[in-house]
Amino acid sequence: MSKSGKQAEPTVSQMLAGARRRFTEAGIESAAADARVLVAGLLGLSTTAIVTRGAETIGTEQVAAIEQAIERRLAHEPVHRILGEREFYGLPLSLSAETLEPRPDTEILVDTMLPYLRDLANAEGRIHILDLGTGTGAICLALLSECPEASGVGSDISADALRTAQSNAERNGLQDRFETIQSSWFENIHGAFHVIVSNPPYIASKVVHTLAPEVTKFDPPAALDGGADGLDAYRTIAKDAARFIQPDGVVGLEIGYDQRNDVTDVFEAEGFKLLESVKDYGQNDRALVFALK
Ligand code: GLN
Repeated sequence: MSKSGKQAEPTVSQMLAGARRRFTEAGIESAAADARVLVAGLLGLSTTAIVTRGAETIGTEQVAAIEQAIERRLAHEPVHRILGEREFYGLPLSLSAETLEPRPDTEILVDTMLPYLRDLANAEGRIHILDLGTGTGAICLALLSECPEASGVGSDISADALRTAQSNAERNGLQDRFETIQSSWFENIHGAFHVIVSNPPYIASKVVHTLAPEVTKFDPPAALDGGADGLDAYRTIAKDAARFIQPDGVVGLEIGYDQRNDVTDVFEAEGFKLLESVKDYGQNDRALVFALK
């Protein structure tokens, strides 16, 4: 960017207004916020700086990059996918093709688990976490960043996801306490953990296609589709969890808004009891915590 660009070069605020107008015209609900995040992200500015530096002009290459990004958003790609990263629990995380974009609702699971982690760390000294289907590593890395006594394993069936999770650990200085294991649920996992967490796929197969195109076209299907009734992953996790948990350990799960009773039944049948159920910002059940009976 330069302060004295040629006449033809648009200003930051002109670019921003143009993006906002096109998103609004296309019926994108979050048009203003999306325009701000996208233009700021591509210019390497904060969402405050694009306002305070609105009069500065933008060079041809950056204009082209922004135009291209606007087209991608108009084709329903979410802004953070376009930027290739988003923040989760204060940590900048890279996204890739086979990782679910971390949602703010998933921060509820992190908040819910932290008191358990602190109690366990007080009792045990060092504690070990397993995050099944870690994707970007979001849940495990957020827990590690908040709990210095913890180390963790992020497992995933996808090698692409594990590469992303590993680089996110490095990006946030957590690589010494984080390792990745390629595994379908518990298949290649060994040892016993104080905390097992997961945000597994939980959307019923026939419901997946009814979600927004931002989700169906850009989030990996394997991270969404929970089988005929959406509960397949919970059944698989519940069946083996007792073998991989320390006697005083806890299992923390994200769930779909209507799955509290079903998931509780699945875990109770495998020797667990429900300790806590937590709602999200929309007042839907979102996180469950279980311990051995
Ligand atoms: N919360 C996600 C959604 O509504 C689903 C994530 C999942 O299945 N774990 O799109």
